[in-house]
Amino acid sequence: MKLLIANLGSTSFKYRLFEMDVSSTRQLADGGYERVTAFTPCIEEMLERLVSEGFLESAEALDAVGFKTVLGKGVSGCVAADERVLEALEGFKAVAPAHNPAYAEGIRCFGEKLPQVPRVALFETAFYQWCPEAAMTYAIPRSWREQGVRRYGFHGASHKFIAEHSAELLGNEAVAARARQLYVCGPGEYNGKPLRVISCHLGGSSSVTGILNGVAIGTSMGFSPQSGLPQNNRVGDLDSMAIPYVSKTLGLDVAEAERQLTKESGLLGLSGVSNDMRDIRAAADEGNADARLSLDVLIDNIRHWAGSFFFRMGGADAICFTAGIGENDPELRAAVCAGLEGLGVKIDAAANAAVIRGKEGIISTKDSSICVMVIPANEEVVIAREVYRFIEAR
Ligand code: ADP
Repeated sequence: MKLLIANLGSTSFKYRLFEMDVSSTRQLADGGYERVTAFTPCIEEMLERLVSEGFLESAEALDAVGFKTVLGKGVSGCVAADERVLEALEGFKAVAPAHNPAYAEGIRCFGEKLPQVPRVALFETAFYQWCPEAAMTYAIPRSWREQGVRRYGFHGASHKFIAEHSAELLGNEAVAARARQLYVCGPGEYNGKPLRVISCHLGGSSSVTGILNGVAIGTSMGFSPQSGLPQNNRVGDLDSMAIPYVSKTLGLDVAEAERQLTKESGLLGLSGVSNDMRDIRAAADEGNADARLSLDVLIDNIRHWAGSFFFRMGGADAICFTAGIGENDPELRAAVCAGLEGLGVKIDAAANAAVIRGKEGIISTKDSSICVMVIPANEEVVIAREVYRFIEAR
């Protein structure tokens, strides 16, 4: 089966083509476009390329197109990317304005170009569908809750990969199998050896998720991808009273406050230097106090959420780092784990420094009672597998 996974950002389009069967997943091709203003020309060019370079006999030879959709009103899981999904994306367009319109356009475009090829959406919220209600509910009036205002959680495909692969690396095959089958079988009962994982996805946007025996129990991101840890230019968690306050003191209306919180906040707003961790670290090393503060705020927030899951799971067996910052910034990993010897966390400085640029590895010492590891992100494989199952089950 040939599956195309489409990753539509607010200004980018990335894709990967997989050849899959029951037991194997093979990537045939990948590519992408930056500074995208319209997706249709990119999709047309990509399909021509895949055919002209011999990866597909024709565009119609695709068995399915999978989409990593973010947030749908009333819809989650792995579902046909049909009119219902388009309506669900529209329903929460205001909550995920950088993501939902892009996916709606991409889904429509594939539907027009390749009407016979099934389109499948795997929502980023899917991994959180079994979280305890108490972990996902805000203390707001019923009328708000009835509008769907709750914690949803994002980066689901990435954290699910961590759930699977951390269990594999720690030799807990029962948990690994449970995590792999989660969207097909649900969590069911689990009486095997327990596994408590704190998963830190730290990239352009970041989140921390607690994973108990392969299933998420809570996450730092909330109603929108704005929340939780400070993101590259997005604010992260903020006291809701700050908005009415600045509307009075700075004269901002809601739209302008939203623009500043989504475009001029996060690591960029704090550092005043860049939204990219590499630039921020370089500036901090040169003595820029704002850059140093933005690093410290990110580290403090990661520890805040990791500590929350440590408590809620009654401890941890593993702490995992993934995504651009998590995979490439040993200093930040060391800072997140600093001073935790009393909890049983001991970082091996040499191993930590060596695991960069897409490498996988354990960065704690042999006698560390909590295993700290780096696992390169692999969201597309999770999506491809779920899309494959969806198509097979039809
Ligand atoms: P996205 O969330 O956009 O998919 P990634 O997971 O690729 O992003 O992470 C991108 C981020 O990774 C960049 O913003 C950058 O800050 C960070 N990053 C990449 N390389 C390094 C590095 N060598 N050191 C620190 N941070 C890095």
